[in-house]
Amino acid sequence: MKELFKINQFNLMASDMIALNRSLPDVRLDGCKTKVYPDELPNTSVVIVFHNEAWSTLLRTVHSVINRSPRHLLLEILLVDDASERDFLKEKLENYVRILDVPVRILRMEQRSGLIRARLRGAAATRGQVITFLDAHCECTAGWLEPLLARIKEDRKAVVCPIIDVISDDTFEYMAGSDMTYGGFNWKLNFRWYPVPQREMDRRKGDRTLPVRTPTMAGGLFSIDRTYFEEIGTYDPGMDIWGGENLEMSFRVWQCGGSLEIVTCSHVGHVFRKATPYSFPGGTGQVINKNNRRLAEVWMDDFKDFFYIISPGVVKVEYGDVSSRKTLREALQCKPFSWYLENIYPDSQIPRRYFSLGEIRNVETNQCLDNMGRKENEKVGFFNCHGMGGNQVFSYTADKEIRTDDLCLDVSRLNGPIVMLKCHHMKGNQMFEYDTEVCTLVLELSMSCPVFSFCNKFFVQSFIKYEKTDY
Ligand code: UDP
Ligand code: MN
Repeated sequence: MKELFKINQFNLMASDMIALNRSLPDVRLDGCKTKVYPDELPNTSVVIVFHNEAWSTLLRTVHSVINRSPRHLLLEILLVDDASERDFLKEKLENYVRILDVPVRILRMEQRSGLIRARLRGAAATRGQVITFLDAHCECTAGWLEPLLARIKEDRKAVVCPIIDVISDDTFEYMAGSDMTYGGFNWKLNFRWYPVPQREMDRRKGDRTLPVRTPTMAGGLFSIDRTYFEEIGTYDPGMDIWGGENLEMSFRVWQCGGSLEIVTCSHVGHVFRKATPYSFPGGTGQVINKNNRRLAEVWMDDFKDFFYIISPGVVKVEYGDVSSRKTLREALQCKPFSWYLENIYPDSQIPRRYFSLGEIRNVETNQCLDNMGRKENEKVGFFNCHGMGGNQVFSYTADKEIRTDDLCLDVSRLNGPIVMLKCHHMKGNQMFEYDTEVCTLVLELSMSCPVFSFCNKFFVQSFIKYEKTDY
């Protein structure tokens, strides 16, 4: 089992022992099971790209699509082989899919191209009214397709994702995902799940069966109207292998007049892996940084500073030519990133309004506040100032929080150290006053002693590097 695990970074032995057409629980909310959708829905082509995928997971994906989609809504399945090296993915696969009830076409990339260009190739060959992208280790559950297509029929500019359920990488157990999380991202431009905020619950008047407007998508699983996919600029073909394309598309769709939604009545499972089984030609970090630079340069305006300052060295990564993507942004008359932060993602980790972004230095000791690479609930530290950004970058926001990436400095522990906690936007223990007269940083709730010991130690000369006064 351990040997087989290494091949795909999931328990291949377990997967191989499970039927390709296994049954799955119906994990939908009750309100979803009784929903009625229009008879006339657009049909879809399903595009699945793969590089060295395992047989059982790939074919279980295909069978689950066929078995759980109304036949008249599923026009075809396109498998795009991104230059896999496994023999069984060649002729054996071609012979296998020939006998299936739905047309399955296999396209082969001549050379390893990455998931973005592989999907572009697949998408260009589709004939359906809607394109549905899936990873090669998914399983669709009962009723997954109709709500996605119905939402696109209602609004062709809606780009829709199912709830992504978890297929255990260890046991292949199927576990329902939550309808209470949505997609965001941190300063490093990592995609992250965050709780759906109250404002979005209010907008849906508490009806959890209605789609959630999500700031970003995970990227592997979604449906989009085929002509809208073209109109909105498909993908950035300059991106390699993996990464960044999901945020790029998310920003683009929102900024250019579309919407991105999680259709909570649709559930599709996905095997989440803890490590990548395949190589990244050019180096993992290089590739991802390049892709992220491309999206930051085109879509994030000045807010790209947050990404650059927290990722030392990233500004030296070559990102190629993005002029055609900038032209696209012009042609579609897309809104600025600040509009996106204000209207679509007000609870974002990158603050829409802030005073400063940089280091916090004790000028007496030349020590800087440093998150020490620590995690949530751990204390913030001091370290010699290195001026390289990274762990020594903090932002003093208009809400008077001191943030480092998606954590806020917090003094809720009486007599305890200042710790980093999730930002709660409620001021209180996360609100810091900056006193320009004495150049100190004073916590508003200044009656408790940890605050004083904190302030005494901690005289702030200035918030340097990026002074933002015009927010
Ligand atoms: N993939 C590909 N070419 C690549 C890298 C990935 O075709 O160079 C495929 C991969 O086989 C999978 C999909 O793209 O079907 C998404 O990749 P992965 O599942 O590794 O991404 P994750 O789900 O971990 O984000
Ligand atoms: Mn995947």
